[in-house]
Amino acid sequence: MKLFQFVSEDNLLQIGISLKGETYNFTKSSDTQSLDSLQTMVTKGLFNVEFINEIIEKAKISGLIDSCIISGELKIEVPIANPQKILCFGVNYAAHAAESDNPIPDEPILFVKTANTLLPHNGTIVFPKSIGQVDHEIELALIISKKGKNIPEEKAHEFIAGYTIINDVSARKMQVDDMKKAPPWYRSKSYDTFCPIGPFLIPSGAIKDPNNIDLTLKINDEIKQHSNTSRMIFKIPQLIAFASRIVTLMPGDIICTGTPDGISEIKDGDVVTCELTELGLLSNSVKAI
Ligand code: ZN
Repeated sequence: MKLFQFVSEDNLLQIGISLKGETYNFTKSSDTQSLDSLQTMVTKGLFNVEFINEIIEKAKISGLIDSCIISGELKIEVPIANPQKILCFGVNYAAHAAESDNPIPDEPILFVKTANTLLPHNGTIVFPKSIGQVDHEIELALIISKKGKNIPEEKAHEFIAGYTIINDVSARKMQVDDMKKAPPWYRSKSYDTFCPIGPFLIPSGAIKDPNNIDLTLKINDEIKQHSNTSRMIFKIPQLIAFASRIVTLMPGDIICTGTPDGISEIKDGDVVTCELTELGLLSNSVKAI
């Protein structure tokens, strides 16, 4: 069960669903105007396996489902367009800490990206050549389901609506230079297009085990990063508990769980693909201007 957003021929944002080898227009199958985006579904508490199955079953019974099948090239949009926050964790895999000359952190390292960075599947990562080396970072991301503050680790799973893929594109030279001067990581992480995301948002109930997902990143078919989420230093419940002690989490917030080892430079003309088991494949081209 994979949901996504796309733009229809009449230029409307629609929700799609890929289910058992078939792709449907979920907005049309739900036969209601209230499900205008995945973010609306998350905010209304409707982004869950039970509700989604109920809609599909109703559409099958009424005979509506056949007219909802879609095929061909779709213009994919980001699954969440206006999160209040994109919270990211840095240095959350030991092998990545080693390759980037960082010690193993004794508590999670939290920073933010802003929503201007979000880029859909097949979109182009764009940056000025003058900023020097820019790197890819494949990551598992989760979407928060409801408002929460001081969430205990044992209740963290109640606050996860679903999972998606992100590429935490980073202006590495700028980040290293900035860290020497001790300002925050913000600018090196938040150029427009520096957060490719999607294409799918998977309800948390449809993922077998988020702590055992393979991550594979390729540049032009060459594998650069290959790891598994079981190697995270701080696990998802710890990340949610930590973040919610500092900020109130809101429905639609995106939490990025850190990248494994193998980060490398992306260059003009490259195609970067991020694949996570059960989560699909996110592909983006690169343009340096
Ligand atoms: Zn990252």
